[in-house]
Amino acid sequence: MREFILTIDEGTTSARAIVFNHEGDCVSVAAKEFTQYYPASGWLEHDPNEIWTTTIEVIKKAMQNGNIADNEIKAIGITNQRETTVVWDKCTGKPVYNAIVWGDRRTAEFCDGLRNKGYEPIIKQKTGLVLDPYFSGTKVRWILDHVEGAREKAENGDLLFSNIDGWIIWNLTGGKAHVTDYSNASRTLMFNINDLKWDNELLSMLDVPANMLPEVKQSSGYFATATKIFKNQIPITGVAGDQMAATFGQCCFEKGMSKFTYGTAGVMTMNIGDKPIASKNGLLTTIGWGLNGKVVYLMEGIVYNAGSAIQWLRDELKFIEASPDSEFFAKKVGDDNEVYVVPAFTGFAAPYWDAYARGTIVGLSRGTSKNNIIRATLESLSYQTKDLVDALAEDFGQRLPLLKVDGGACRNDLMTQFTSDILDMDVERPSNVETTAAGAAYLAGLAVGYWKNEEEIVQYRKIDKVFHPSMDEETRKKLYKGWKRAVNAALAWSKDR
Ligand code: ADP
Repeated sequence: MREFILTIDEGTTSARAIVFNHEGDCVSVAAKEFTQYYPASGWLEHDPNEIWTTTIEVIKKAMQNGNIADNEIKAIGITNQRETTVVWDKCTGKPVYNAIVWGDRRTAEFCDGLRNKGYEPIIKQKTGLVLDPYFSGTKVRWILDHVEGAREKAENGDLLFSNIDGWIIWNLTGGKAHVTDYSNASRTLMFNINDLKWDNELLSMLDVPANMLPEVKQSSGYFATATKIFKNQIPITGVAGDQMAATFGQCCFEKGMSKFTYGTAGVMTMNIGDKPIASKNGLLTTIGWGLNGKVVYLMEGIVYNAGSAIQWLRDELKFIEASPDSEFFAKKVGDDNEVYVVPAFTGFAAPYWDAYARGTIVGLSRGTSKNNIIRATLESLSYQTKDLVDALAEDFGQRLPLLKVDGGACRNDLMTQFTSDILDMDVERPSNVETTAAGAAYLAGLAVGYWKNEEEIVQYRKIDKVFHPSMDEETRKKLYKGWKRAVNAALAWSKDR
């Protein structure tokens, strides 16, 4: 009999269902977008019920597309947009408010208040995070404070909180299980990543009752049994947040291994082993996954604008019709024209951290053409990668051996080669850039013996291409120095307000 693993990938704009076979190949996939709600400036919400109905649709479609029977699914893995917050009534199963999405900034002032009260160092020490509206804790509090009757119900034990993973598991089990995994819990601002427990001090700081919180389990292991949607009962045995699942899907199993995802934003993660390390460069420390009774920690850095800079070339400047065209035009010019594009459209994240910075172009001459700008924009992805790689290497105390890449923009050979040149490091691109879904499938499959161990999974990993550095040191140094000058120009413009 055939056997597969089903991954449910709950993204920010769409839900996807992907079926994997034993070789780790994707045999069937279905995806559907759901509605984004923008009720006020800086706010972003999703309807949890729509996410659930969309999920049912894509699961059914993926099974149909691949001609796969319910009893051929050995286990289910779930990966999800992290931090997005759902609070629902445990008696009715109905959300009391829309899901507040990770990017929603409505709790910024509340975070400033906590910062002024001196909470930042303790948050960093206990959670590995920074005090920012990004994480779930202040969003839960907002719901309890603003939805009529919610706080009272929560105090009575009638409300539950979870990120999207726990909401989907609750629904798949017909309201039987309220669970999450270490990686998701580590993004809530309420979970102590050192002793692996919900933290009472943080809960009282946020005024969130402990009885709302899901039970936290390791990322690979039995979570619950899906009794809804499918004809037979299927165990849910793998859960991880999207960036953590991608890190696992890239087989970054050993300490020191790292991956960079070039999506709309860019996210770098590195496996730092079984002990948390605090960053001196503004990077986050977070839980990657729990497996075989052990926890792996990651260090994480984010670049707000990566692929979105290519979309800017396409949608606003109208220099290209489609993102992949950027390579064709960039190839028409060299990298010796000293034009730099710093795509800090929404400010700088790590390592510069300046919320007020904006995009900058420097080095224009009378001969600068659109091709120069396109090339400089692509190169900015590589320079931002180097900024993060250097910050991580400093925190970690050693140079990284290799960088694994994924996400849409890593398909651009020119950009990926330039990244290798600027880093002076091998850059490895897998054949399957669906690493997030694969990671959740691996976590689920390992728990049920579908794959024996991590070594077996590594064997199935297929590499599309390894990019080797070919730039001389003098050029590399000169180019990167130019980037730093360009960043300084953006920072100077921001500071001189
Ligand atoms: P997300 O998951 O954040 O939606 P994806 O991993 O799907 O992102 O990647 C999409 C991003 O990659 C878009 O911003 C797009 O502009 C960029 N992109 C896709 N293909 C290319 C390419 N060949 N060259 C440069 N950028 C690309």
